[in-house]
Amino acid sequence: MAGEPQFVEHARDGDIHVLRIANPPVNTLRTEVRAGLLDGIQAATREGARAIVLMGSNRGFSAGAEMTEFGKPRKPPSLPEVFDAIEQSKVPVIAAIHGNALGGGLELALACHARVASPGAQLGLPEVKRGFVPGAGGTQRLPRLIGLEALRLIVSGESVTPEEAQRLGFVDAVLGGDLEHAAIAWARENAGTSFTLARNRTDRIAGYDAAQFDEAAKKLTARSRGQESPLGCVAAVRAAFTMPFEDGLNVEREQFTRLVQGEQSQALRHIFFGEREAQRIPDLPAEAKPLPVNRLVVIGGGTMGGGIAMSAANFGLPVTMVETSEEALQKGLKRCEANWERTVKSGRLSQAEYEKRRALLSGTTDFEKAVGEADLVIEAVFENMAVKKEVFARLDKAARPGVVLASNTSTLDIDEIASATQRPELVIGMHFFSPANVMRLLENVKGKASSPATIATATEVGKRIGKLPVLVGNCDGFVGNRMTGKRGPQIEKLLLEGCLPQDIDRVMEGYGMAMGPLATGDLAGLDIGAAVRKARGTVAPVADAVVAAGRLGQKTSKGYYDYDENRKRIPSKEVEQIILDLAEKMQVRRRKIEDGEILERVLLPMVNEGARILEEGIAYRPIDIDVIFVNGFGWPAFRGGPMFFADRIGLKAVRDKLAHYAETTNDPNLKPAALIERLAKEGGSFATLKGAAKG
Ligand code: NAD
Repeated sequence: MAGEPQFVEHARDGDIHVLRIANPPVNTLRTEVRAGLLDGIQAATREGARAIVLMGSNRGFSAGAEMTEFGKPRKPPSLPEVFDAIEQSKVPVIAAIHGNALGGGLELALACHARVASPGAQLGLPEVKRGFVPGAGGTQRLPRLIGLEALRLIVSGESVTPEEAQRLGFVDAVLGGDLEHAAIAWARENAGTSFTLARNRTDRIAGYDAAQFDEAAKKLTARSRGQESPLGCVAAVRAAFTMPFEDGLNVEREQFTRLVQGEQSQALRHIFFGEREAQRIPDLPAEAKPLPVNRLVVIGGGTMGGGIAMSAANFGLPVTMVETSEEALQKGLKRCEANWERTVKSGRLSQAEYEKRRALLSGTTDFEKAVGEADLVIEAVFENMAVKKEVFARLDKAARPGVVLASNTSTLDIDEIASATQRPELVIGMHFFSPANVMRLLENVKGKASSPATIATATEVGKRIGKLPVLVGNCDGFVGNRMTGKRGPQIEKLLLEGCLPQDIDRVMEGYGMAMGPLATGDLAGLDIGAAVRKARGTVAPVADAVVAAGRLGQKTSKGYYDYDENRKRIPSKEVEQIILDLAEKMQVRRRKIEDGEILERVLLPMVNEGARILEEGIAYRPIDIDVIFVNGFGWPAFRGGPMFFADRIGLKAVRDKLAHYAETTNDPNLKPAALIERLAKEGGSFATLKGAAKG
């Protein structure tokens, strides 16, 4: 109809018809698209088409289901109805894939009679990463096309190139040049051959070997840490091997329905959308433009400086590493080289790509000259205010006017660092996480003078070098470290009252954390915390006693745990005795502490501090905090982050539990934050918190 948008365009090249999905930007399969496909197939059949080429317009084939239709009753036709129409069509339907064919998009292609693709396309079933399983036959059709390899693709959710897809057997041809043109030619040439639909193939699922399947499944789910969707994928794919097609579809549907409504899937979607949201800075004026950056200079080639330099080179940004001596410089450069070489050895990086990256990295001990050529400086020297101020005063003199000077400090006051320069408006924190070439999180820390252009520059460069920048305010520990710092006192109390380090870590890892807090302490080095406590004049009886016994963590092969030569942790008798002695001395009666209590007492202090961070405007939104924890602190995405955790419990219950623990453990820090009190009273939640929490 004139004037109405066409969601599926119908074109003809002689007797080859082309149906083009036109739902920009990514061709999700909304109701109108599904209806348009059904109509298009019927029309092409009526008109006597020899073959139908099905493709996407714009950027790609289709990114799959429409997320906004999630959880709502779907209007007909459903995807399976469209797939039935394709599979029953006498006219062969050939999917021609460019750009993304993901999720429901790939499932659509799998229902077609054949698939061709242009180089550079991405094909995958990422549903597992959103917390569910492919729900429109993907788990049944893909195994029938490629056998056991389907299990790997579906459980990992990773996409593959068309070349890889062809090798595996679910793409029939990779076509260069103009895809529409090439696909029409391919269709014309092959229209006469008899295609076997995926659902009717049996060759790749024959000879199912339960033991082999189990072993593959076990390997693939070994690191799911309590995430349910990988197991759901295994169950659905197994059905493809052991049941008739229709029965397998039912198993898939059951898994899909159960998982998509579950808490884990909600958490994963919360993080998926949150990662986009957290990169939007609400009060940044639209006219704030990032300054052009063509050369980065990193001051310090230690643990962090090296990782930051690698991140830049990995994403094509030329970078200079500055060190104080030739020896330190060579050590820093060598560490980067060794790291890249390991990646080459493992097959995840080509030699050519390595050389390209290596060529982008240079090093010098000539501070003034290097800084004079910088478009952006990131400082990563020792964590000491006097040293930082000296370095910034020197940077200010050596850098061209208008160049942004960033610090990677993890605890120090950005405003005080900025005060050492004549350009405080161009100073900002860029807090990377270790290992900096791996971790995605970047806390950009706004000083009170940081200008919009400075903020825009730090954001833009962060994105460019593969990071997820989240803008936060300036305070001790910023967001992430400030919150994790607050669980320390409760961990101390838990240890004295009845836990051993392995009990706490078991509960936290059982929840899905990459590593429990005590093992993490051992990895980072227990002397770091000890130094902070000394500087602040605070005590932590257990931690102090462990350090006093010469147990500094993995670097001394003993900390909260003993470590063998493979760095495997072993519960320590010595630490147990230290704890028992201390408890006796301090007259703490030890008792059995339930896992639920351990979990709450470790997580709720962080939630409470998160609320204070929101009150103070240090974080813009609760979601920013969740994104920080998932991307920088090993919090499992399928648990959604600390503020999501609090919402799941309900803020009334959170308030009551905090008040209870504040009293029973005599910890004033657990007194419920004003924001939690207010939201609990209003029946509100972090998710529905509107506007600023501040004030
Ligand atoms: P590091 O000791 O490994 O490296 C510091 C390097 O800076 C050394 O190689 C030293 O030679 C060099 N250096 C010192 N003064 C210099 C100068 N004037 N000019 C050039 N080079 C100089 O320390 P690191 O772990 O890389 O930490 C660096 C910064 O990053 C600190 O502010 C730290 O708080 C922060 N940080 C560390 C981590 C972490 O996990 N290690 C995480 C986030 C942030």
